[in-house]
Amino acid sequence: MEPYPKSIVRLINLLSELPGIGRKSATRMAFHILHAPKTYGENLSDAIRAVKETLRLCERCFNLSDDPLCAICRSPKRDSQVLCVVETPSDLIAIEQTGAFHGLYHVLHGSIDPIQGMGPEKLKIAALTERVKREPIREIILATNPNASGTATALYLRKLLQPLGVRLTRLAQGIPVGGDIEFVDSQTLVASLKQRLEF
Ligand SMILES: [Zn+2]
Repeated sequence: MEPYPKSIVRLINLLSELPGIGRKSATRMAFHILHAPKTYGENLSDAIRAVKETLRLCERCFNLSDDPLCAICRSPKRDSQVLCVVETPSDLIAIEQTGAFHGLYHVLHGSIDPIQGMGPEKLKIAALTERVKREPIREIILATNPNASGTATALYLRKLLQPLGVRLTRLAQGIPVGGDIEFVDSQTLVASLKQRLEF
């Protein structure tokens, strides 16, 4: 038997479904909400509702957006000739936070993984080919993850996009900045040897 009233147990149960949140943290969060001013609870539930009701995918790049076109696609400052293809909106945010990329994106919403039943038709791949045919794109960076399914996706896209005459690139793989060669796994070391740069 839970020692708490039903309403707070319900909140604890829902909070503990969040990633990385155990029952103890969920209980602490629930009591924080309980003791916080009434407006905090109202704002929190409003924010959750707004995310579920107004958040959608950008019609052009499939990034998360409150509007038909996301802020990146709407920006006149972005280089619309360079496209960075990523698996998820979180990957997009990671690249965006570097401030080092000024082109546009295309979010696939997953990667090809036959074992998980993830075929190319379940990803935003047809829309990508359409974009390449319609928009003046000169380079596509295939920034899918350097794991089995991410690499399979990049290879699939290469086969599909190469005939369209666009330059295809892939993110370099190598030793982390500030890293130590002796602690780098041998696969990464091989990749960085293959992709070594003029110095
Ligand atoms: Zn967009």
